[in-house]
Amino acid sequence: MSEPYDLVIIGGGPGGYNCAIRAGQLGLKVACIEKRATLGGTCLNVGCIPSKALLHASQSYEEVSTALPAMGVVCKDLSLDLGAMMKAKDETVDGLTKGIAFLFKKNKVTHIEGTGRIAGPGSVEVSDAKNKKSTLSTKNIVIATGSEVTPLPGIEIDEKRIVSSTGALSLSSVPKSMVVIGAGVIGLELGSVWRRLGAKVSVVEYLPRILPGADGEVAKQATRAFKKQGIDFHLGMKVTGVEKLKSKLKLSMEPAAGGDAAQLEADVVLVCIGRRPITQGLGLEEAGVTIDTRGFIETDHWKTGAANIWAIGDCTTGPMLAHKAEEEGTACAEAIAGKAAHVNYDVIPGVVYTAPEIAWVGRTEEELKDAGIAFKKGAFPFSANARARANHQSTGFVKVLADATTDEILGVHMLGPNVSEMIGEAALAMEFRAASEDIARTCHAHPTLSEALRQAAMGVEGWTMQM
Ligand code: FAD
Ligand code: NAD
Repeated sequence: MSEPYDLVIIGGGPGGYNCAIRAGQLGLKVACIEKRATLGGTCLNVGCIPSKALLHASQSYEEVSTALPAMGVVCKDLSLDLGAMMKAKDETVDGLTKGIAFLFKKNKVTHIEGTGRIAGPGSVEVSDAKNKKSTLSTKNIVIATGSEVTPLPGIEIDEKRIVSSTGALSLSSVPKSMVVIGAGVIGLELGSVWRRLGAKVSVVEYLPRILPGADGEVAKQATRAFKKQGIDFHLGMKVTGVEKLKSKLKLSMEPAAGGDAAQLEADVVLVCIGRRPITQGLGLEEAGVTIDTRGFIETDHWKTGAANIWAIGDCTTGPMLAHKAEEEGTACAEAIAGKAAHVNYDVIPGVVYTAPEIAWVGRTEEELKDAGIAFKKGAFPFSANARARANHQSTGFVKVLADATTDEILGVHMLGPNVSEMIGEAALAMEFRAASEDIARTCHAHPTLSEALRQAAMGVEGWTMQM
């Protein structure tokens, strides 16, 4: 029998692959088991990367007819080659998943293709595609099995007409109409993609607002912007069924608070009401790993209740985000190697890659009010930011929330152009426990969009000055 591994990771997504690479860098003997043919998990294969590729391509397509003419750029013969757009997306995914395989080799990580299961203390069984079994012996096991689409009872996803995000990333033609169930991150991002490419998009959401986790003021202004783009919202509505007619789908809904039923017709229905952790068939119960009522593995500093079994990423509690999984993967490897390991859960940014983009870090106004924390607020609109005006992208604003006594930044919320990149500055400031005045007194290049963050920070003490 060969030397045992220091750690065996089940799952090769952002949690698992970052854990594997960091463990390799620290000189640990590590194997990562992945059941997909490619590494990278949901994020690289059917999540972050293909969705961002389509968001960028569809935004570029739409801008040619909507934004560029006002700047003197006129294109008379615009056409869409959806096949080429999908191919470009697939090539990006292919290149990036191969990049992870390269990093595994570079950091001496053993990549095992197959399905992993805990077989006993320090023992992981792997079944390959032909169901041939082998067993790995290891000092530590890391569960990084991620998440899957939450189904809507009574509505069967066929990935052709009734799709999850996975099907919506690969439609072979632009539907005339699409109904999106769930006004969360996926609904808004993929709804935007297909609207830009020509579909009439309607969104049905159970709650009376979009993006439940985001700051209320941001969500309100974002709703206005998306409505202006042509998306219809049916808020506070509960979907009761989808009937498959020959050429159309008929979706029935009724007010969540009770009331008259209504119907919508569509060519494609996208179900995106959240994701659920993958914890079945892993031998968790027998191993003594406990799961909460929502199915998430319970952890304390990535340790489960069972000795030498760890869990990270989407299969544990917290935001289901690639960078959260990545942070935990790195920290978990460092903890296993005996190093001090830390994840600051108060500073995990969230981004919605629509246009305008939405980004935030820290607490919302609603959360601060609920917690009884006194705070000051500064805000600045992109309509008063010179770079945004020059770029014809002036929808949105930046808001900085700071502690009323200490001025420590407690939350930053943005709606506007390129805010996915701007939020990093706010996260860094919060990581250093900066005061809003630290941002307000930092020289920012002119003209840049990031000046809007500085002006919002200046607004906390009431000295915003730029037009
Ligand atoms: P996963 O990425 O799900 O990886 C888990 C891996 O484990 C999978 O590859 C799975 O095949 C494998 N696995 C499961 N069970 C076994 C087993 N028994 N044996 C072997 N392998 C197994 N997040 C962001 O931060 N930014 C975004 O822009 C973003 N966009 C998204 C867009 C979409 C459409 C979707 C669906 C998600 C998006 N996410 C985004 C969320 C992000 O993809 C996840 O939070 C992230 O992938 C979680 O990483 P993970 O490693 O925990 O799990
Ligand atoms: P979500 O949790 O973001 O949104 C789901 C929405 O569906 C919520 O607004 C919820 O109120 C609504 N909903 C729930 N049940 C419903 C019902 N029966 N009828 C109508 N509406 C209902 O989930 P998602 O959009 O499916 O995304 C899944 C996960 O993937 C999220 O956790 C998200 O963090 C992650 N993700 C992140 C990004 C990003 O970071 N840019 C992009 C895509 C996905």
